[in-house]
Amino acid sequence: MRRPPTLAAAPTPYADVEGRRLLAFCSNDYLGLAAHPDVIAAQQAAAALGAGATASHLVNGHLHLHAALEQQLAEVTGREAALLFSTGYMANMGAIEALLGRADIIVSDKLNHASLIDGARLCGAEKLRFAHNDLEALERQLRRARTKSGSAKILVVVDSVFSMDGDLAPLPQIAELCARYDAWLMADDAHAVGVIGSPQRPAGGSAEFFGLSQQQLPIVMGTLGKALGNFGAFVAGSAELIEYLRQFARTHIYTTALPPAVAGGTLAALRLAGSGELQQRLCTLVDHFRSQAAARGIDLLPSQTAIQPVLIGDEKRTLAIGAELQRAGFMVGAIRPPTVPAGTARLRITLSATHTEAQIDALLDALATALSKNKPVAGAEAS
Ligand SMILES: *Cc1c(COP(=O)(O)O)cnc(C)c1O
Repeated sequence: MRRPPTLAAAPTPYADVEGRRLLAFCSNDYLGLAAHPDVIAAQQAAAALGAGATASHLVNGHLHLHAALEQQLAEVTGREAALLFSTGYMANMGAIEALLGRADIIVSDKLNHASLIDGARLCGAEKLRFAHNDLEALERQLRRARTKSGSAKILVVVDSVFSMDGDLAPLPQIAELCARYDAWLMADDAHAVGVIGSPQRPAGGSAEFFGLSQQQLPIVMGTLGKALGNFGAFVAGSAELIEYLRQFARTHIYTTALPPAVAGGTLAALRLAGSGELQQRLCTLVDHFRSQAAARGIDLLPSQTAIQPVLIGDEKRTLAIGAELQRAGFMVGAIRPPTVPAGTARLRITLSATHTEAQIDALLDALATALSKNKPVAGAEAS
């Protein structure tokens, strides 16, 4: 049984957790925008337009602020248009279900997020999977899909930054394979939008980071609840795609539009993320974290993003180390199956632009101690 810890407020990165002050290294607020005073002020100002949107977009819930946010999201990601959804979960379910049917084929990375898996289930298309980031395995599945049906729509879908590993999908190579096999490509930018991008568009996500055109990467799903520190999600792409989803994505149509305050706060967050300063600060901290972990003999996964997992393997040990860190004043995610594959339980450490180098050093000292107190028992490790 899992139990949610109860916090007094969003981590700043300090969090008051059931009466204890802990330093959080587990939130997805990579840029520190959730508690940014400018975001909160904009959000409070927009709340004057109504606590709620009072209806779905197509009835009367679509305010100027929603339209402005859709336009801004399209601009930031370098796409023609964008469509708001209430959560990333709903965006993935709704987009996949609108685009594919029973005669079609969806090809997924094995480590894709649960919401993509559920979208694949919902649409009824045939499901093919490939080993994580394995381009040869992907090509085998694409060949198989095209051999089965010359006319099926094929959708390749991947996390662009994998949520539990922090590594990137090789999107340029995947896009090339998609072009060769006449397949659509969809990237889940939940952990990319806002936090990775190009010098011109530092918040633009994976399409900007890799320089992929709308044709190469036609479907981008992004969330507002992670690096943008807020709530909600969007799909960005061609004007035609977005118009189609506006008409047919059931999780967009049959639900209440986001509260106006969320749109106002997110617009402020996008302005703050637009300068690239916060992302630069985060990059410095990621480098610091990795070099200081190496100096302490702590093994990390090959991630260059704000998600820096420490693979433990055994579930009990992972929980014991997480509890030890909590006693030392730190909050990190202890992630176990089924969220991650069996035998790969881990500490999911995440960094934020609001952390300091000294805070990171303190965490790593505590982690080194916790790891040495909880060494694997020979032969007892799950594999
Ligand atoms: C969090 C997440 C989602 C879901 O987004 P929500 O807005 O939280 O529903 C989708 N995909 C990935 C990869 C995620 O990490």
